[in-house]
Amino acid sequence: MSAGADTDLLALAGTAEELAFARRAVEFLGAHADRRSDVSTSWGVGPENLALFHETSGEQEQRECAAARAWQRTRWDAGFGWLTGPVEHGGAGLPAGHDRLYRLIEAAFEVPDMNPVRIGLGTVGPAITAFGSQEQIARFAVGLYRGDLVACQLFSEPDAGSDLAGVRTRAVPDGDGYVLDGQKVWTSNATFADLGLALVRTDPEAPKHRGLSMFVVAMDTPGVEVRPLRQLTGGASFTEVWLTDVRVPAANLVGEPGAGWRVATGALAGERRAVGDRSHELTSRALALLRTLAEREGRLDDPLARDDWARLYSRLRVARFQQQRMQALPDSALGGAERAVDKLLLTTNLQLIGELAAELLGPAFVADTGAWGSFGWNRWMMGALGYRIAGGTEEILKTMLAERVLALPREPR
Ligand SMILES: Cc1cc2nc3c(=O)[nH]c(=O)nc-3n(C[C@H](O)[C@H](O)[C@H](O)COP(=O)(O)OP(=O)(O)OC[C@H]3O[C@@H](n4cnc5c(N)ncnc54)[C@H](O)[C@@H]3O)c2cc1C
Repeated sequence: MSAGADTDLLALAGTAEELAFARRAVEFLGAHADRRSDVSTSWGVGPENLALFHETSGEQEQRECAAARAWQRTRWDAGFGWLTGPVEHGGAGLPAGHDRLYRLIEAAFEVPDMNPVRIGLGTVGPAITAFGSQEQIARFAVGLYRGDLVACQLFSEPDAGSDLAGVRTRAVPDGDGYVLDGQKVWTSNATFADLGLALVRTDPEAPKHRGLSMFVVAMDTPGVEVRPLRQLTGGASFTEVWLTDVRVPAANLVGEPGAGWRVATGALAGERRAVGDRSHELTSRALALLRTLAEREGRLDDPLARDDWARLYSRLRVARFQQQRMQALPDSALGGAERAVDKLLLTTNLQLIGELAAELLGPAFVADTGAWGSFGWNRWMMGALGYRIAGGTEEILKTMLAERVLALPREPR
């Protein structure tokens, strides 16, 4: 790696302490991975890479999961596996800013795709660490950060998505544990997860939000059945998870009985934090490709196409500035509003990019002819739909902003 490239990465550090940390991170990464080459924005060069969702299955999925775990283990062994984690459990005890700094630096290196372990590290691990017992942290959270375990999030149900507090899966006390019955849906990564963080109802008589509890469920417990769901993008990375008479020890209850809603909202804040990390590169490349597409279709002088492209360019700049503003804020100052705006900007831009591609391509947008840069935009558009829903739908985020930031009258509930 060149000294100039190092300097760019070290410039991301704000304080002297962060600079020393960044130097160690660059040294560690340089010893284990190549620097990422610039992503090609030239038409027809390299893989098309327009699908927003990376969907694999079977052996390839298992290989990718093994690579992600191995890299997490390498990070752990070098002291970069759990930067914000408590020192007594093997974490580095650093502020959240170091975690963001590390992610920005690591993004410049060719490391395995961490998608298979993302939910464990970004959502489940932080929730267990914040709300779990010392024993749960030692067993489950450390297992996730050391790369030994992979987790999934068993929250959504057929009638409880946006209205998550409506979950109906029941947990009934039985001896020294609980018995779980119900159905979860849209569970990502459940086919290879070792454990699931499950939001369930323990008190059907209590008001909706107070009758919930959170459990860690070992995914190989008898009665846990994972059924893949075919998506409109073609892959099957989602699943339905059926829980039938699943026995879970009381020691796996995270927090107090009835505290499930608090644990869930804590976990979801982690999920929203993870959105948009490397989106800038993705959207800039798309914008460059769309310009070439307009040229190839003879639309570069078309005032309507130019107008759409220029509007997109401006929106992407605004989204980038918002992201830079967020990256400069300490984590403690980042409220739900910033994250909601960040996510809304990203998902609306993904949608608009897909719409412009559809407009420029015409019928080629819907016909898979194998031509570079045509049907791939269709996969982009279908993936954009998923981003608009996951981690809080656009409508729900807008309502949240209307009520909590703009102080508009509350929606009837
Ligand atoms: C890519 C992806 C990954 C996911 N991974 C997981 C996972 O790993 N684990 C998990 O538990 N879940 C996961 N989900 C599920 C996700 O959390 C839910 O899809 C999401 O919360 C929305 O719930 P729903 O699908 O039931 O839609 P609904 O809540 O039924 O909403 C349907 C439509 O109605 C609108 N709507 C609902 N209520 C209101 C309201 N009050 N005001 C205005 N509009 C409203 C919504 O905005 C939406 O457009 C994932 C989803 C996606 C797309």
